[in-house]
Amino acid sequence: MWFFRSPTVIFGDEALTYLATLPIHRALIVTDRDLRATDLPEKVRRALPEGAQSMVLGDVGPEPDLGEMTAHLEEIRRFVPDWIVGVGGGSALDTAKILFVLYERPDLTVYDTTPLQPLGLRAKSRLVAIPTTSGTGSECTWAAVLTERAERRKHELASPEIIPDYAILDPEMVLALPLEQTRNTAVDAITHAIEGYVSRWKNPYSDAMSEKALELILGNLRTVVLHPDLREARTAVHIGASMAGLSFSNSQIGLAHALGHALGARYKTPHGKAVGIFLPLVVEFNRSECQERFDRLNRYFPDSVRAQTLEDSLRSLFRAIGLDSTVAALGVAHPDYLASLDELAELAAESTGLVTNPKDCGTAELKELLSRAYGAEA
Ligand SMILES: [Zn+2]
Repeated sequence: MWFFRSPTVIFGDEALTYLATLPIHRALIVTDRDLRATDLPEKVRRALPEGAQSMVLGDVGPEPDLGEMTAHLEEIRRFVPDWIVGVGGGSALDTAKILFVLYERPDLTVYDTTPLQPLGLRAKSRLVAIPTTSGTGSECTWAAVLTERAERRKHELASPEIIPDYAILDPEMVLALPLEQTRNTAVDAITHAIEGYVSRWKNPYSDAMSEKALELILGNLRTVVLHPDLREARTAVHIGASMAGLSFSNSQIGLAHALGHALGARYKTPHGKAVGIFLPLVVEFNRSECQERFDRLNRYFPDSVRAQTLEDSLRSLFRAIGLDSTVAALGVAHPDYLASLDELAELAAESTGLVTNPKDCGTAELKELLSRAYGAEA
């Protein structure tokens, strides 16, 4: 027995206006610092039903840790929201999910958010996710990533109950996304689609989501990078990214995420950039287990970047969109990186991505992949 889990997805032009049809009386809007300078949180607030009260929590930073996520919990409890609306990239949406758990169940800690424990959420509120990047898939998934900065560690929390009730994909929310974030988050989505497609838990539903996600993202990403305000191409990448989220949420991530989380925890590398650094190397490593599947995915690359193998097509795509995909390009000094290989391998070994990766990977192989990811020799 298996499941395909998904929020109700509202997508396309004017999707945001759907908010006005929901029975929202008191909305907690959770958003991030970068968005405070834009009109997007206000757009969401204006889209609420007439007469609805709102409280905006607008200081989620990148890769938030537990302290930052829960700093305003008491204030939230006093506000008594009946809907929690996450607006932003992965950090804001993951924070909304974690606040949803802790608001609904003050008796739990965040670490009780595991797939095996029924949480009994939705006694007080419901959850909406409105992504402003096209990549993390958080609006569709049952996972939330929590950083423990003091320990340089990332936790992957998961429960089917934290899948948002609604995911709203409105192109208006991503048209002004800066180039750097457009690239990084798209590469994250490509990684979700590929890792979901070869995960040990892959299934016909996740397969379909991965293939269509890649068709939409790969077919439109270069256009989006060259002409960021082309609505049609933005919409395609935005929908593709959520499909990639549905793929991995219903199958699982793999080794590129295990390694990317380790790098991100140690060097604060943006998530999409971190997983992108490892993706071609991981595809190469996994090839012996998934030759035929990788060949099938390779067909989705446009002629201008498609190479013989999936890993080389990825490298050529990354070059074409101007993505630096080595650790060296992050500005990390080689001796410092070499000194941290043991720690990075240890962090990666703890990730669930290792369990569902199609090929077993021991410590020596993790270190080899980490070491090759540096790129240029010092
Ligand atoms: Zn990811």
